[in-house]
Amino acid sequence: MVACAYCERPLICDGCQGPYAPPSPEQYEALSRPESMITCPRCSQVLICHWCKTPYDGEAEEEADAPGSAGS
Ligand SMILES: [Zn+2]
Ligand SMILES: [Zn+2]
Repeated sequence: MVACAYCERPLICDGCQGPYAPPSPEQYEALSRPESMITCPRCSQVLICHWCKTPYDGEAEEEADAPGSAGS
């Protein structure tokens, strides 16, 4: 069983409600890298954690202020 990198619960694909099993060791390691996109081998959609709804789309959530457009 693979744990979600964000909520640490058993990783279940929100698209097909199935437990995510990494097809390769590379995919398994990619789980802990927020910059790598992961797709579900069952439904071919971007993997979204069923519990915390965090998408593994390769775009790490950062509270960075928008460059350029900020200000009054
Ligand atoms: Zn999660
Ligand atoms: Zn799926």
